[in-house]
This record gives sequence, structure tokens and C-alpha cells, in this order.
Amino acid sequence: MNSPKSIECGEHGQMPWNGEVTCCKCERVFTTHDVSLATHAPMRCPCGARLMPKAIGGGKFSARLCCSECFAQRVQVPRGSA
Ligand SMILES: [Zn+2]
Ligand SMILES: [Zn+2]
Repeated sequence: MNSPKSIECGEHGQMPWNGEVTCCKCERVFTTHDVSLATHAPMRCPCGARLMPKAIGGGKFSARLCCSECFAQRVQVPRGSA
């Protein structure tokens, strides 16, 4: 249970996954791992898309897994409104 998940990133290949997600509408990045962070994923993205599923298996949502490298790149380069 403690072994880190890994994901296949389109840009970076096989990468460990630590709970990072990206909104597939606006490409903002969030983490689902640590609720104390400012980047913790809200239910609804600032762009208006529903980021997280309402219930397990229910509804459409915009969050897509992204690797820690993508997260680090995008979180440092805010796009659009500050
Ligand atoms: Zn968004
Ligand atoms: Zn990546």
C-alpha cells in the first residue's frame, strides 16, 4: 500500500505520482495529496470546470493525473489571471 504510484506522462514518460492533478480545461495544476497546501485541489476549478468527481464513479470531472515534473513546471508559471 505504501509503494508510490507511477503514471505514464506524455511529456516525461514513466514518473512517480504523488497526487498531482491538472485541470484539462485550463491546465492549472493542483495536488490531491496535502490538504494544507494552497494548491490543494478544490471541488471546482477557478476556470469553472468541475475538478473533482462528485462521488466515486459519478459525473464528469476535469482533473487528469499529471506527473510531479509537469506540476513543478506549471505551478511556477501561472497563466492567465494571477
Ligand atoms: Zn480549470
Ligand atoms: Zn510530466
